[in-house]
Amino acid sequence: MKNIIYSITKFTTTDYKDHLSCVVWFSSCNMRCLYCYNPDIVKSKEGNYSLNDLYSFLKKRIGLLDAVVLSGGEATTHDLFKICENITNLGFKIKLDTNGSNPKLLKKLLDNYLLDYVALDFKAPKNKYKDITKSSLYDEFIDSLKILKSSDCKFEVRTTLHNDLLDVDDINTMQKILVENTYTDNFYIQKFLEVENLSNLENSTKVFDLNSLNNDLNIVWRN
Ligand code: SF4
Repeated sequence: MKNIIYSITKFTTTDYKDHLSCVVWFSSCNMRCLYCYNPDIVKSKEGNYSLNDLYSFLKKRIGLLDAVVLSGGEATTHDLFKICENITNLGFKIKLDTNGSNPKLLKKLLDNYLLDYVALDFKAPKNKYKDITKSSLYDEFIDSLKILKSSDCKFEVRTTLHNDLLDVDDINTMQKILVENTYTDNFYIQKFLEVENLSNLENSTKVFDLNSLNNDLNIVWRN
């Protein structure tokens, strides 16, 4: 069986608020977001660690870590059901970072109470989704949002903002879409940071017009 894990961050206090966690970076992704900070992971067809490597590591962390963050790449391009069952049986909570492209798997995990927290990426409004993500997975994202809203699982919606890709009208449209789908919690926005990225994007020279930002949701700037 192929190694599907690109790498494991053994300890973090920042990826899952109020939890001592490790991060599992799953290889490959079904999107190609222009600003992606993990080009090597996204393009990797095979990882460096097996699931047995993960379980052996976790067994040594029982009592030391609270939770496992499933990230990537896109974790839901892999069949996470058995993996989440095994992680839960070892006594860890699970946070999933996802682009929302696999609503069917998300629902199955939620229906079986295998997720404790989800961070859902809202990449762009429909008219810009394909340009920014190089995918046609907008409808899947909306389905994932609806599924999360109808579950009991805690979740957040977050966006990466590069001023050449999204402007204030786009963020206002995205707020509207979230509200239409009964999302009323914080909308987290992280500004693009100029580090190695998938399309060698540089910082934008455009100004984001904060004065025109609507207050449909409580926007929380993460940087
Ligand atoms: S930023 Fe986009 S391309 Fe990169 S891992 Fe996330 S969904 Fe995939």
